Amino acid sequence: MKEEREAFRESQDIIKKLADEPPYPDEHGKVIRLNRRFVLLDVSYIPFDVLYGIDELFGPVSKTILFRIGRRWGDEIYARYESFGFGREDCLKLSAAGAWYCGWGIVTFELGAESSRARIYNSFEVESMVVRKGISDENSCHLFPGVISGIYSRFLGKECSIHEEKCAARGDGYCELVATPGIDLT
Ligand SMILES: [Zn+2]
Repeated sequence: MKEEREAFRESQDIIKKLADEPPYPDEHGKVIRLNRRFVLLDVSYIPFDVLYGIDELFGPVSKTILFRIGRRWGDEIYARYESFGFGREDCLKLSAAGAWYCGWGIVTFELGAESSRARIYNSFEVESMVVRKGISDENSCHLFPGVISGIYSRFLGKECSIHEEKCAARGDGYCELVATPGIDLT
């Protein structure tokens, strides 16, 4: 598995080749990145307040809802790179580079025969939870595992179950997710 610094350099190199982009925000008050409009949100609000806002109304299903949102995002992120004509390995590298570029953290993927892994250094989701709740005695990630599930499911052509083996929100140095393929999507 790549170390944080190496993964950062690789992502930086990929993005440099893709686009020469203006400073943000532009004269129209828009942050444009990779031909799309982005907004900057304080991580002390997002996703913490989304999770707890839904939790107030619907209870623990809020975690599943957040996962499902992430799942859609991961699927769309990977599909977008695919639509540009990139191959499978490149789509994975671009997904990691995009995560770095948008300030989500530093992501590295490792493919295995039985299962594959994703490691996330400095996850914004972890920071959101830790800033508001402090270090936890349980895993706090739901959105990011959903994103990784969407990416790996597209990459492998099979629905993947995701298990978070390590989580920085409970004091680990990073989050590590294990994706195990299940239902065939093809
Ligand atoms: Zn985590």
